[in-house]
Amino acid sequence: MKSLFALLVLLLAAPLSAQVVAIRAGTVIDPAHGASAKDQVILVENGKIKSIGAGLAIPAGAQVIDLSHQWVTPGLIDAHTHMTLTELQNVPFETFYLNESTTFRGLRGLHNVMQALQAGFTAIRDVGNSAEYAMSDVRRAIEAGWFIGPTIIDSGKIIAPFGGQSRDIPPRQGAFWQFEYIDADGPAEVRKAVRTNIYYGAGVIKLVADNNPYHYSIDEFRAAVDEAHRAGIPVAVHVYSGDALDNAIEAGVDSIEHGFDLTDAQLGRMKAKGMFLVGTDFPRKHLDIVGTSGGILPEPAVLAPKIIDRLRRAHRIGVRMAFGSDTVIDMPGRTRADLMFDYLAVWREAGVPPADILKAMTANAAELLRVDKERGSLREGLSADLVAMPADPLSDIENLRKIDFVMKDGKVVRKPAGSR
Ligand SMILES: [Zn+2]
Repeated sequence: MKSLFALLVLLLAAPLSAQVVAIRAGTVIDPAHGASAKDQVILVENGKIKSIGAGLAIPAGAQVIDLSHQWVTPGLIDAHTHMTLTELQNVPFETFYLNESTTFRGLRGLHNVMQALQAGFTAIRDVGNSAEYAMSDVRRAIEAGWFIGPTIIDSGKIIAPFGGQSRDIPPRQGAFWQFEYIDADGPAEVRKAVRTNIYYGAGVIKLVADNNPYHYSIDEFRAAVDEAHRAGIPVAVHVYSGDALDNAIEAGVDSIEHGFDLTDAQLGRMKAKGMFLVGTDFPRKHLDIVGTSGGILPEPAVLAPKIIDRLRRAHRIGVRMAFGSDTVIDMPGRTRADLMFDYLAVWREAGVPPADILKAMTANAAELLRVDKERGSLREGLSADLVAMPADPLSDIENLRKIDFVMKDGKVVRKPAGSR
């Protein structure tokens, strides 16, 4: 009884409001509006931005974080990842899922998302190839508070016409790709597949439209869009070219993923509909490792210049773009997150200004992920997902590699060496 009384006294003596964190920021960048402001104070309480501006009074007792020599931006977002997947060189495409369990894939996913958060990616959209919903479980573990990780929007299994992303598998082998894919042919099966993924927790629906000689019709796309939108989630479509691309645009999907062969006319129609391009703009050195990915992709020497040209045209035409890397390889001595930054060089080569690249990595991506009411910008009421670096990313976008401070939902998960 005595100890209960002591506990009550302790509880009553505790401050009524949560601790306020005050960040002194040298420069705050607002990617949504291409603006920046000097000498700002950001007050963070209960994981959210309480207020932001110049000359704000810092409340007594606040924890002060000094970033007065740093550039501060919203946390980065990669809108196209496969965190549980490592594609291997010179082996059949299916190897990665024939030799690895769902548990092992989930552990890889957790490892990769933690590294991505350290590098400054405070949200990711993981678009399938995660075995039996491994990424949904990684998301649940983070949401349960077992790990501090990025916000994760995951797709569940990829929905595709019969065969997933496999070709020429003999009938004797059976439909083993269903470990990774849902076969869905015709609007009714597409609806059922969409509902299945939503049931298991998907926050985005991912379709692969044109991996085989047959591809999704307008009616099949419309079924997916109708079903997903009624549940409040977007539809992302892996598609490279031609009729399948026309059908996806016509049906009003939310994003075209890859779109390597997009024509100017198709880009114009995407712009008119406000549709996003998530270009997954592979650098040549990554393509050289992935190769043709079992015949899915053109040769690297053909594809690399095509990607740069398509990105340049999309930017010139004014299509809305969200950054998506599609990083699926490992390289010795480098993290997955480090490899995600390699894509910046392609955006630079296509002539996209740093401000537009940063917008694609923050505000635009947040809108596509439908989390823009909670994150993706630095303003009052939004979650305190922010990063800082000792050089201006608007003068050189590669400065994002220098991120040395990361705050996720108000918690400091990385700070510069030697800082308090
Ligand atoms: Zn992908």
